[in-house]
Amino acid sequence: MEFYIPTRVYQESDAVKNHGKEIAALGRKALIVTGKSSSAKNGSLADVKAALEDNNTEYTVFDRIEENPSIAAVMEAAEIGRSEGADFVIGIGGGSPMDAAKAIALMIQNRDSSEDILYTDIKLKALPVVEVPTTCGTGSEVTPYAILTRKELKTKQSIRHRIFPEIACVDAKYIKNAPQSIIINTAIDALGHFIESYFNLNATDYSKMLCLYGMKEWAKNLHVLRGENFGEKECNSLLFASTLAGMAISHTSTCVPHGLSYYLTYNKGVPHGKAVGYFLAGYMALVNQRIPNEADRIFKLLGFSDVKEFKEFIIACLGRPDINDEDATNMLNGIMENHGKLAVLPFVVTRMDIRYLITYIL
Ligand code: NAP
Ligand code: ZN
Repeated sequence: MEFYIPTRVYQESDAVKNHGKEIAALGRKALIVTGKSSSAKNGSLADVKAALEDNNTEYTVFDRIEENPSIAAVMEAAEIGRSEGADFVIGIGGGSPMDAAKAIALMIQNRDSSEDILYTDIKLKALPVVEVPTTCGTGSEVTPYAILTRKELKTKQSIRHRIFPEIACVDAKYIKNAPQSIIINTAIDALGHFIESYFNLNATDYSKMLCLYGMKEWAKNLHVLRGENFGEKECNSLLFASTLAGMAISHTSTCVPHGLSYYLTYNKGVPHGKAVGYFLAGYMALVNQRIPNEADRIFKLLGFSDVKEFKEFIIACLGRPDINDEDATNMLNGIMENHGKLAVLPFVVTRMDIRYLITYIL
């Protein structure tokens, strides 16, 4: 077994402020990478700026990372980072700016290279990266993955380089005022990470330990997903769970539900966590057929009596997806060629199994 998570994680109130000196020590000038507006509204951007100013470190802000970041945005930000002399990168936001920050750090470091290196198997270094999550699902603050939209392939894919952040500052105050839909979608993403990592050929006792502990923590917040009010306590707990889930998938990667989700996100604009969530009940239904004892153990841990109750819960959280026959066939054909996602399944599947998985929620 191997276990490797090199990111220093601080999960506490005022994490950015408390560790500003350590963040600033990573370089002379930071490129701060954010989405359109949420980081300015939830205080995370102001905290990062203040921490750098207090420690006499310069910065430039790039605030144009869109959801499901494009390679074009990464290249534009990297160009600005290079011309400004940035020597470290700070990603603030959901998974989109956090993932983009890793790819940008790679492109600034390898200044004379074209975007082709993102998807080439050569060992390359990246500038140091700091991540500040403001959603509670991707775990990108501790994973080595950076998922970008590949327009030429009409899908999303992680870049080939594993870039672990140096530091992650996890602070619940940035997410406590987020819309409930963002909390629900991203919390379901974390659940997907747990389920796809636990039932995974690459799972080890280390990664399973993270999943078992993390799912128990996650399940303390079922009431939030059912639409009840929530506060900083629940946000803290969901962030903790999603960071643990990130550590788990760092070792196993995700599998079929994530592979299928990219079609819905790319073609129908469905947010990442929601798109993943639509396939979790189907995946658990397959697990339930193949390894029933293990499926039962996980349902119990999460607070469900069986796969039917789990499916109803997912539908109550997300509604039903808009998937027609053509979509189902496209998804089926796509995933059957996605060897990376199929190869990590803990049992053999046929086309019929995958069709069952896709349509289970309809
Ligand atoms: P996201 O795409 O980063 O952001 C979604 C929306 O939420 C944006 O409109 C964003 O606004 C807003 N937002 C973010 N934080 C907010 C807050 N605190 N309050 C209010 N609004 C907020 O969403 P995500 O689900 O976190 O990330 C999804 C991406 O992560 C996908 O590309 C997915 O493939 C990737 N991912 C990566 C990993 C990994 O291991 N690296 C794992 C899973 C998923 P602004 O644009 O204004 O900021
Ligand atoms: Zn995910």
